[in-house]
Amino acid sequence: MPSIIWFREDLRLSDQAAVRAAAEEGPVIPVYVLDDESPGKWRTGAAQRWWLHHSLKSLSSTLQEKGLKLILLRGEASAKIAALAEKLGIDRVHAIEHYEPWWVAQQDKLAGRVDLQLHPGRLLSEPGTVTTKSGEPYKIFTPFWRLLQQVMPPPEPTRRPANMLAPDAWPDSDELDDWNLLPTDPDWATGFDEWTPGEEGALSRLDDFADRVADYQEGRNLPSEDLTSRLSPHLHMGEVSPAKVWHVVAANRQWQTVETFLSELAWRDFSTQAIVTFPDYGDTPGREQFDRLNWTDLRTVEGKEHLTAWQRGLTGYPIVDAGMRQLWATGWMHNRVRMIVAQFLIKHLLIRWQEGERWFWDCLVDADYGNNSQNWQWSAGSGIDSHPFPRMMNPKTQSPKWEAADYIRQWVPELASLPDDAIHLPWEADERVLHDAGIELGKDYPEPIVSHQAARERALAAYRATKS
Ligand SMILES: Cc1cc2nc3c(=O)[nH]c(=O)nc-3n(C[C@H](O)[C@H](O)[C@H](O)COP(=O)(O)OP(=O)(O)OC[C@H]3O[C@@H](n4cnc5c(N)ncnc54)[C@H](O)[C@@H]3O)c2cc1C
Repeated sequence: MPSIIWFREDLRLSDQAAVRAAAEEGPVIPVYVLDDESPGKWRTGAAQRWWLHHSLKSLSSTLQEKGLKLILLRGEASAKIAALAEKLGIDRVHAIEHYEPWWVAQQDKLAGRVDLQLHPGRLLSEPGTVTTKSGEPYKIFTPFWRLLQQVMPPPEPTRRPANMLAPDAWPDSDELDDWNLLPTDPDWATGFDEWTPGEEGALSRLDDFADRVADYQEGRNLPSEDLTSRLSPHLHMGEVSPAKVWHVVAANRQWQTVETFLSELAWRDFSTQAIVTFPDYGDTPGREQFDRLNWTDLRTVEGKEHLTAWQRGLTGYPIVDAGMRQLWATGWMHNRVRMIVAQFLIKHLLIRWQEGERWFWDCLVDADYGNNSQNWQWSAGSGIDSHPFPRMMNPKTQSPKWEAADYIRQWVPELASLPDDAIHLPWEADERVLHDAGIELGKDYPEPIVSHQAARERALAAYRATKS
């Protein structure tokens, strides 16, 4: 009797416990269900649909080499899998356990209809493993990370099964192209070609990064340098396991060389723990005073214009604009710049963090419910572990501090001819410098939509009012 492998964001064959367990039992039917129903407004966003198309294509062709077929179905996942199992007389379904609230609900539903075997594989350690002495989840990352190290390293990653048996007959499947996951009119994903979705692309990026990890600690905050791993979309889609990342990066290297990187990897676990504890973390602030803050009314002309200027990278703050344009063009943004643009939206424009979170959800190839909510709440100061609201990141000082001149040149080309000391703050540059660079502010590049000082005072006053 075959068993079903229910794939979700775990699109790999190596170090994939559900694949391994199913292959050991006998013939397998690998299934992916495009479920736009159960996540509700958290259905896969536009940029990630692009990634999903290519990742499914890659998994499908790897399975084909093994004589297997990836069955594609569309609809509510638990209902589709249960109906398929019933039709084929199959009882057992193997899957990696997921923690987004909609997946938890789907797992519960499916478990009531078939023998659902859930396996670990999304995280370094499963939620509930690293807790306070009284068994509570940690609310602060630092002690969480300290304790996580005590249960690390994660288990050695396993290879993909050498043999996987096909069933006697294959059930019907949708055609991937019919799902229209790729943008066509217009094709806004032409700048996504730097990515190679799929397990092979993930493993080659991992190997390449492991050779460069020694530069990570010093360089990870410099957006002009390409010194972070860019593994986030691969990790989100589960094309590589975090355990594999840990072992490849840590192998034969001193702890000091890899510690910073591995601690960043551990933030995924911490974020997942946050959504397990607060399933509504994508909408509801961890500190309820943030619901009382006098946010900008987005029905006003100014409110709408400010949000649009931020989304399009036309705020007049070059580092913010560079980040927002990188996001639009490539589906990804450097972490330091994510923090700057998030704080700019929330504090300078006083726009609710959930608006930015939604925009990221649609634009990021690595959009991840836990990581996105947790980081937006961190940036707002509303999270369980967060950057205090009154400590505003100032784009005027962040940009030179992190040497972002070349990054700005790449993403805001209309400023490319400005020298380094002027490019961070063109509206404060000497008239002669602007003239020599051939730049007319207001025409070639927008004036700042808000003044830093006035925005800061407004934000602090709004914050103080939530406490009275
Ligand atoms: C406002 C905001 C929104 C974000 N939204 C997302 C999101 O939707 N999805 C997402 O994966 N990351 C998100 N991040 C976290 C972080 O910016 C990205 O994980 C990182 O930039 C990915 O690039 P990288 O793979 O080169 O990271 P590296 O620095 O190479 O880190 C390695 C891996 O560790 C994990 N990681 C690193 N930093 C964080 C972090 N702060 N929180 C959680 N995990 C982390 C990622 O899986 C990453 O791939 C967000 C950050 C901010 C400030």
